[in-house]
Amino acid sequence: MSNKYLIANWKMQLSIGESRSLALELAERLASTRTDWSVAVCPSGPALSQVAESVRGSDLLLGAQNSFWEDRGAYTGEVSPANLKELGCSLCLVGHSERREYLGETDEMVGRKVAALLARNIMPVICVGETENERDDGRSEEVIVRQLTSALADADCRSSDGQRLIVVYEPIWMIGSGRTIELEDVTASAQLIRSTLNELCTAAAADRFCTVAYGGSVDAVNLSGFLSCPGIDGALVGGDSLTADNFMGLLEIASRS
Ligand code: PEP
Repeated sequence: MSNKYLIANWKMQLSIGESRSLALELAERLASTRTDWSVAVCPSGPALSQVAESVRGSDLLLGAQNSFWEDRGAYTGEVSPANLKELGCSLCLVGHSERREYLGETDEMVGRKVAALLARNIMPVICVGETENERDDGRSEEVIVRQLTSALADADCRSSDGQRLIVVYEPIWMIGSGRTIELEDVTASAQLIRSTLNELCTAAAADRFCTVAYGGSVDAVNLSGFLSCPGIDGALVGGDSLTADNFMGLLEIASRS
């Protein structure tokens, strides 16, 4: 599997049937696509088992949008990493800004989730990024370093036989907004994430096991620009991942980059 990742975040946008059909179509089209990219879809929780059937035997990876940190217990409404593993999830989003904002997910909770996912051999896709106010106050760097440090606080990522993880730089003001961001700012954040990972994991482990990606209003017009930023080796896509034509179009662009 390539260490470059194109990941679809379907959020709560599709019915179970729509998720199953879209996954089937993507899996079929991926089979006849030449690419050195790893491609994943993250359906909503209730659609996971049907999408798991759709992607079985294909190169399309299954991801979850959330996980709890315990494998079993009295945690009504939560989903365990053990269940995600049983379903065949290879990866799981953690700390998405929508969960931080609407569901009260804290830095500490993100850290516990990351450690639990790694323990189950599920690749965490850790989302970090600043709000518009934090950016205007010149606090972007502080926020990114704090979120990333907490996310890896409980994880053993210094080992030379470590597990892969993905860190997505998602400036919150870019998510679903269709706004533009300077590529120099994306590069600077990617470099900050890389240097923080070097400290937290050791440079050798970070180099070997960590992928840094960009997310926020990715589309067919701006994707190649984001992928040209040094240090960016992936994209997390919301809105433009909801049709097979759009998402496969992004994969074509990524594969040429
Ligand atoms: C997201 O929320 O993870 C995301 C990238 O959304 P969008 O592409 O719609 O901005």
